[in-house]
Amino acid sequence: MIAMSSNIFDLMKKANKITLDNHGDLVTLERAVFLSWWCDKGDCAFCYMSTQKNKIKDPSKAKRKIPNIYAEAEMCKRLNWNIEFLSGGYESFTTLEIKKIATNIKNIMGDGVWLNTGITDELEEFGSEIKGITGAVEIANPKLHKKICPSKELDQISNMLEKAGDLGFKKAITIILGLGETLEDIDYLIDYIKTYKIDRVIFYSLNPHKETIYANSSQPASLYYAEVVSRIRIEFPKIEIICGTWIDNLANIGILILSGANGITKFPLFKMFGTKYGKRVEEEVKFAGRKLKGTFTDKNQLGNPQSEIDPSLDKFIKRYIKESLKNKY
Ligand code: SF4
Repeated sequence: MIAMSSNIFDLMKKANKITLDNHGDLVTLERAVFLSWWCDKGDCAFCYMSTQKNKIKDPSKAKRKIPNIYAEAEMCKRLNWNIEFLSGGYESFTTLEIKKIATNIKNIMGDGVWLNTGITDELEEFGSEIKGITGAVEIANPKLHKKICPSKELDQISNMLEKAGDLGFKKAITIILGLGETLEDIDYLIDYIKTYKIDRVIFYSLNPHKETIYANSSQPASLYYAEVVSRIRIEFPKIEIICGTWIDNLANIGILILSGANGITKFPLFKMFGTKYGKRVEEEVKFAGRKLKGTFTDKNQLGNPQSEIDPSLDKFIKRYIKESLKNKY
């Protein structure tokens, strides 16, 4: 393993300038909208869903109610949060169901949505409701990939991304740091982004879930995360970079923004809204010299308990507003 570069501050400084020059000073709050809590594969070593597979007797019950999904999108619109992507485990919804949900969400948000709903050979079914396709590459090391995600073959993900490009969709990948990769793997990641002409990279840091082999692993160091992101930003000035941090790692946010993040994600947004943690996110963004698109604290933006789209969403909108005002912390 290569030791942490002593010039990390130089890298971050360079990455920050490149980001400001190419993307401006707006930072987005990104929310992954889940379609279900079931995954038929259920064997990725780090994944919470892998701990649930045997506990879910009836997968159809793990699907979320569709009006609840739309209500969540309506709340994202009100608070000016972006939808990171629609996400769901394998074998939860059919392609046509996903297309219908995406179409309605596009109508709510006024913009096409990204998908992260697994490897599929039915991309032709999608149209302008979809902005881009996400390949859940997850691991920045192809040898580790086989062990960690045995049922999600890298070749199949790569083929899907190629096809997505041929069909005119944008392309994204997800990468989790802290799974055993090292800084030496950044070159592989750079090659992958070049080869498949990736438009958007979403980084997460490992969240060591109980009952997984990572339960006692540490999350990656903040400056390790910063070095990976800075080097990718310097190599690819134009791509969009989203960085995930968990609620226990909010101090990473400022550092990751200075390293090149355009957006931040992976928070329990409604739970954190208006709390000291929501305020902390806004402070992190401010002290990185950026403006936050959307709000984590402005209660007026939560709006009325009635949906502006469909009365069948009302009860879910009410629930989101209640959760946002609860101050659980
Ligand atoms: S395919 Fe996705 S949801 Fe399923 S176990 Fe792997 S990471 Fe989790």
